[in-house]
Amino acid sequence: MKLIDTHCHLDEIENLDSVLEEAREVGVTGIIAVGINYATNLKVLELAEKYNDSVYPALGLHPQELPEMDDTEVDRTLSQIEEHISRAVAIGEIGLDYHKRVRALASKERQQAVLRDVILLAKKYEKPVSIHSRYAWRDALTIATKVGIKDAVFHWYTGPSSVLRDLLSQGYYISATPATEYHSEHRRAVREAPLDRLLLETDSPVSYGREDRYTAVPKDVLRSLNATSEITGVDNGSLAEQTTQNAIRFFRLPVTM
Ligand SMILES: [Zn+2]
Repeated sequence: MKLIDTHCHLDEIENLDSVLEEAREVGVTGIIAVGINYATNLKVLELAEKYNDSVYPALGLHPQELPEMDDTEVDRTLSQIEEHISRAVAIGEIGLDYHKRVRALASKERQQAVLRDVILLAKKYEKPVSIHSRYAWRDALTIATKVGIKDAVFHWYTGPSSVLRDLLSQGYYISATPATEYHSEHRRAVREAPLDRLLLETDSPVSYGREDRYTAVPKDVLRSLNATSEITGVDNGSLAEQTTQNAIRFFRLPVTM
């Protein structure tokens, strides 16, 4: 069985040699390492070079970073993404976050303007995007469609079915995290998405679980797989095959992996 963790903050994980070895042992042959700002973008590029048989970099500008960034820093990060775009398989993590704590420090308008600029870059260089859309599902979709980006994944989607229907009709994808084991909105979205629009991920090192909390690492993409298998009724072998093919197609990864 081959699996791809399509959204992982690998730069935040310690003991990477053993973490990656453990991932490989359960069949994880590829990991998309996403950046969130200038410093982490540099790190994911380094990691992709060091672990070039399995780690693929995505360069991003996360809405939760905006409170710490003035307009000059935003521009510097956009220029950095453009400069290194040929080495990246995608642009991400990018998006909108309308949680009130984030909105209080980075207005909706500012978040939307930055998202528009970064999606324009993705469009210019024909790269897929990995979108964070917490409480901002409709606005994130509207910006993606207005800019006219072709390939987008709404990562860890937990939004309403109406937005899900519309994003699927644009040809976009969603991704399933280990929260598929227990989170009802996420489970509903995973149930409603067709299998050819589903990617698996961990968003490591996020903490998951209701009673037993744990910090995710890439091998936990197996949890995403098994819970998705349980939700959809598709056996995990077929599901692994399908979602890995989806990831190879979406990120244009080497087909040999
Ligand atoms: Zn993330």
